[in-house]
Amino acid sequence: MAGQHEKLQKGDGLLLVDVQRDFCAGGKLAVEGADEIVPLLNSWIEAAAAKGIPVYASRDWHPLRHPSFQPQGGKWPPHCIADSDGARFHPGLRLPEWLAITKGVRFDQDQYSVFDQTGFAVQLLRDGVKRLWVGGLALDVCVFASVMDGLQAGFAMQLIRQATRPVSRKDGDEALRMMARAGAVIIDHSQGVEQK
Ligand SMILES: [Zn+2]
Repeated sequence: MAGQHEKLQKGDGLLLVDVQRDFCAGGKLAVEGADEIVPLLNSWIEAAAAKGIPVYASRDWHPLRHPSFQPQGGKWPPHCIADSDGARFHPGLRLPEWLAITKGVRFDQDQYSVFDQTGFAVQLLRDGVKRLWVGGLALDVCVFASVMDGLQAGFAMQLIRQATRPVSRKDGDEALRMMARAGAVIIDHSQGVEQK
């Protein structure tokens, strides 16, 4: 598949946010169109692996009765419970060597961002990563929070527009505007830079 992954270079990393069963069709918190991004993500994984670019995959990994769950007064139906089938990565995702970022494990608060108390920024520095290409779920929640925190931590963030889907279309559009305004580059997979 031709596309922007030819621009992957040394100093880059690929970040896949929460591509887990519960966020895909038939899951507890299914995001519309989530399954459609998997082939595109695979093409990015393949390109990264070929160039020796590190691949990071985050996962929501909640304890039972997590504070983000509705029965506990949170916003979301229970999802991605640690060790459950729903917390597994999408079965079609072809991960080679990758590093997992596990988040949402705390009893006292949720963590939308892959940078939120995970030590991820330190690992990126160790790996010599300065720029992250990002895809995954969901655009207006964990992808948004991760991109904003990545910028804040001093990394260049490039969001692959077709490699993500929102929970809500309206919030997704707003998230794109806010990320671009904060300095993220929104990439159209086939066209190049969309918004800067
Ligand atoms: Zn969650």
